[in-house]
Amino acid sequence: MDTNAAPKVRFAPSPTGYFHVGSARTALFNWLFARRNHGTFILRIEDTDEERGREEWVSGILSALAWLGLECDEGPYRQSERYALYADALTRLWDGGYLYACGCSHEEVLERTKGNQTPGYDGHCRELGLAREGRALRFRTPRDGTTVVKDVIRGAVEFPHRAMEDFVVSKANSSPLFVLANVVDDIDMGITHVIRGEDLLPSTPKGILLWKALEGSEVELPVFAHLPMLVNEKRQKLSKRRDPVSLEYYREQGYLPEAFCNYLSLLGWNHPLGKELMTMKEIVQSFSLEDVNHSPAFFDVVKLTHIDGEHIRRLDSDEFIARSSAWLDTVTVPWERHCFEMDTYQRIAHLVQERVATFGEIIPMVDFFFLESPVYDKVAVESLVGNETTQRMLTMALNTFSDCSWETDTLHETTAAMGNEIGLKLSKAQAPIRVAVTGRRVGPPLFESMVILGREKVLARLQAFATLVARTTPE
Ligand code: GLU
Ligand code: ZN
Repeated sequence: MDTNAAPKVRFAPSPTGYFHVGSARTALFNWLFARRNHGTFILRIEDTDEERGREEWVSGILSALAWLGLECDEGPYRQSERYALYADALTRLWDGGYLYACGCSHEEVLERTKGNQTPGYDGHCRELGLAREGRALRFRTPRDGTTVVKDVIRGAVEFPHRAMEDFVVSKANSSPLFVLANVVDDIDMGITHVIRGEDLLPSTPKGILLWKALEGSEVELPVFAHLPMLVNEKRQKLSKRRDPVSLEYYREQGYLPEAFCNYLSLLGWNHPLGKELMTMKEIVQSFSLEDVNHSPAFFDVVKLTHIDGEHIRRLDSDEFIARSSAWLDTVTVPWERHCFEMDTYQRIAHLVQERVATFGEIIPMVDFFFLESPVYDKVAVESLVGNETTQRMLTMALNTFSDCSWETDTLHETTAAMGNEIGLKLSKAQAPIRVAVTGRRVGPPLFESMVILGREKVLARLQAFATLVARTTPE
């Protein structure tokens, strides 16, 4: 491989399910490497497994990449459209004596090899000279020697051939297996760097044997970089059953794609100066495979959320309004769509932007503006039921607010004065008012919110709430 040439990398997902955050990290690192080195980023869908490769999963891959902002320079190629290439490679390997036909069923192999020390196929058909047609083909793995995977991240990893089996490269119906199609395409597409998850490291020596069989033993192999696996807080491999691992989940929670990429970039890679909060541009400028380490990377939702909040704070306010309202349009919200008023949202947005870590957190913070009556937090309401001070505060508020001037400062001062009168600090004095108006104990600044909501609605809510907590008072 000409190391001076612009690199070519590929992201090669198999469409076998929802899009995993680990796949997102692999895609991102390939993309970053390509952008950093003015190379080419190829998307290749590895859909040779017809039973599992469903069309909706292919569109899931495309929409995930589009959301992350990882545009590809070539592709998507689809392996299912490239069978002629694999058939040709199989014939060349067969003619070169690298393969043999195997007529054993899976059960037969299991039965024969039950007690064996080295697991896997026992070479039963290796010297039988069976005809190729209608049989699976296996690669004649050399009996001696070692294949060394030189990996930028993990150093030299040795695979002694005696521990490797004669692996299958095509099925009895002549459809190619992953390892064959993968290598044939990497050769055909001129891939210079194979950047992928650590789970694929065990198949790499097989790929190298194929690569040499097809291109000659002196061939210059691509650079391999196997990215560290992602683990949860218990250092367990991220799993679908235990952890939220689909990219879709995070999209639905309202994470920003650029924040998500920022966080993913830190899963295995470190900025040379330890910077954590970065734009895509900054990441591209400093990314290098040499700075990727091999220890498992903890997928920390708390940190992801913190980084998302920081990115939200960095948006300019118009962008925050535009992007968050567009996002609200795509998710389930507790208010009727036609009740959402853009004017109101524009006025409250600055209060929200400072306080949320994800767009998802916006909903409970603004719902009371767009609902006829607020969603009451049960615990908050119960703590106020039958409470005399609450009743007094609500009665005073109803009186005072009906004709004071409707401005933040005035509402603030009059509430403080009411509190004084009954010996309550402002925070305690405003608590029942906040629950009455917003339904909750926490939220955006109360008096500013009341100004935006308007006197009429505030008074109506205070009235309704006073009745509610009085009616449920135990006799
Ligand atoms: N298609 C393989 C997978 O999704 C990855 C192939 C590769 O990156 O080499 O597991
Ligand atoms: Zn056999």
